[in-house]
Amino acid sequence: MASLSIENLTKRFGTSLAVDRLDLSVQEGELVALLGPSGCGKTTTLRMVAGFLPPTSGRVLFDRDDVTNLPAHRRSTGMVFQSYALFPHMTAAQNVGFGLEMRGLGAAERQARVEEALKLVRLAHLAGRFPRELSGGQQQRVALARALVINPKLFLLDEPLSNLDAKLRAEVRIEIRALQQRLGLTTLLVTHDREEALTMADRLVVMEGGRVRQVGSPRELYDEPRDAFVADFVGRCNILSGRRENETEFRTESGLVLPVDTTPNESNNANVFALRPERISVEPGAKGSLHGAVQAVTYLGSQTEYHVCIGKEVFVVIQQTPGANEPLAAVKPQDQVSLRWDCKAPRLVPHTSL
Ligand code: ATP
Repeated sequence: MASLSIENLTKRFGTSLAVDRLDLSVQEGELVALLGPSGCGKTTTLRMVAGFLPPTSGRVLFDRDDVTNLPAHRRSTGMVFQSYALFPHMTAAQNVGFGLEMRGLGAAERQARVEEALKLVRLAHLAGRFPRELSGGQQQRVALARALVINPKLFLLDEPLSNLDAKLRAEVRIEIRALQQRLGLTTLLVTHDREEALTMADRLVVMEGGRVRQVGSPRELYDEPRDAFVADFVGRCNILSGRRENETEFRTESGLVLPVDTTPNESNNANVFALRPERISVEPGAKGSLHGAVQAVTYLGSQTEYHVCIGKEVFVVIQQTPGANEPLAAVKPQDQVSLRWDCKAPRLVPHTSL
């Protein structure tokens, strides 16, 4: 496996800038996810790393080797796509072995490596099946085996789970992560699914408009977003515009005064209050200054979501679902409730850090 360095990488399509001076390094054995809304430049970046697309400027290095001008087939990357891109007329084993045949490996070695790769993805028993005889999850595992079998320097995953249903997605996610960690695969994952990125990646790169907004561990990005865009993109968040009144208060544009502790928030242009829904607690009755009417109660099984209207603002609160005999179980729309949070929980951030 190699490490990956992306230096000042830029891609223009005509006048539009798809990727704008991107810098990123991925350590050997690390999984880094590119996360961002549609059109932010994730796939374009991945395609430049794979060698399918020439950059307008900048460099791509595997270890210390500059591969910017190397064609895709000489880069030794293992790619897995959203559409599994399996050959329909070939069995699982033939699909996995195709790349080895192209590389001129003899039949005996090919067979041994195909068997090993299929074993890794727990599909050895289905080696003789055609893609149409396999489920979506199994087809995606064949695609994984096909990418792994060539012993790639870099593992590139482009929305690999988006064709699977939610339950299967969660399963295959864990499988890929376990395999990636066990084999120490240097991996670049492209996704617009924040849950996928948070659960799979060592580090996340949040992109927007071709540029990097923030790079960090899932926990850093979730707990310490640099700006409102990142806060909102990596998880549910109550985001309210306004200004810092003093060290302990934030005043929203609608005039609501919210308790904060501004000491961890050094930014001068922090005009957004950002607070995760699970950091707020709801109590029945109108106590304290932050109370209002419940607008909606949504039962989500282990969690319950409350929308609470205070002045002109609506707060989203997510709490563990109380037991049948606990007081909150009785909270219903129109009830008066109070909200509380630890004043260290909110982040004061700028709208944008760009
Ligand atoms: P998605 O999640 O929808 O796949 P993405 O973040 O991967 O989005 P890209 O596919 O990298 O985004 O596209 C980035 C920008 O570049 C978009 O504005 C897109 O329209 C543009 N773009 C991509 N490929 C081309 C192309 N071949 N010609 C012109 N513009 C392109």
